[in-house]
Amino acid sequence: MAPNVVRVGDIEITQLSDGMLEFDLCNFFPTIDEKNWSPYESHLHEHKVRFNLGSYLIRGGGRTVLVDTGLGPKPAETPDVPWGQLMNDFKAKGVRPEEVDMVVMTHLHRDHVGWNLTSQGGKYAPTFPRARYWMSKKDWETCHQPDVQPMRFPNAPTCVWPLAELGLVEFMNGEHSITRELTAVPTPGHTPGHMSILVTSKGERALVLGDAAHSPVQVLEPDWVSRADMDPDLTRQTRKALLDRLEREQILVAAGHFEAPGFGRIVRLEGRRYWRGL
Ligand SMILES: [Zn+2]
Repeated sequence: MAPNVVRVGDIEITQLSDGMLEFDLCNFFPTIDEKNWSPYESHLHEHKVRFNLGSYLIRGGGRTVLVDTGLGPKPAETPDVPWGQLMNDFKAKGVRPEEVDMVVMTHLHRDHVGWNLTSQGGKYAPTFPRARYWMSKKDWETCHQPDVQPMRFPNAPTCVWPLAELGLVEFMNGEHSITRELTAVPTPGHTPGHMSILVTSKGERALVLGDAAHSPVQVLEPDWVSRADMDPDLTRQTRKALLDRLEREQILVAAGHFEAPGFGRIVRLEGRRYWRGL
């Protein structure tokens, strides 16, 4: 089985998962004709796209950083959903929420912010009680736009906004150094303030991709945008530039929506680029 933990210099990256989501092709990729998927049938599950809800726990340099927090607890009215597992996975992998001292969100879509907070009797408390929460200023502003929020950031009012009242928010603006080893790199398009997280230690590097790609198929078809990509043209431009760099510099990739654990590299075979999982 692929490893759930990788080392990058002195840094250890552990994959944690909140479960998965599945969509019909025409639902998630409405502009891609179904026949175009036929060469990629092996990436599908009964003709659907399946996305892991991956978070990454990055430990080293005296810090424990959680990147993205999944979709959140299972709703009481639909207890059978295939997500809502993140806290179980913490337990299974022997990690306590108190160990996390920084939460970093690649962007503020609902499947990346779900476990930020718990609420009891109308009062919010951070799920990770020692953590401060890092997010892009641009996404914070966008998730407050009344014409955008209900569709694009449906759980922001309960999973993101209360962080400000609790005094826990740290904003990232442009390329942003988070710790000595972690740098947030703007990769806009999917959301206006989307960030990928670059890990650098002892000359080794890894990139937590965020939603700059949802499927390994997009390594071969970087023009394929999904309905979740807010600015399709910018998404394509960002994805191509990122794939160029990841291939050229052979940076290890942590791709939260690819099949778990989502660690791999961009390789070239006979002139075409591919995803090669670890
Ligand atoms: Zn996502």
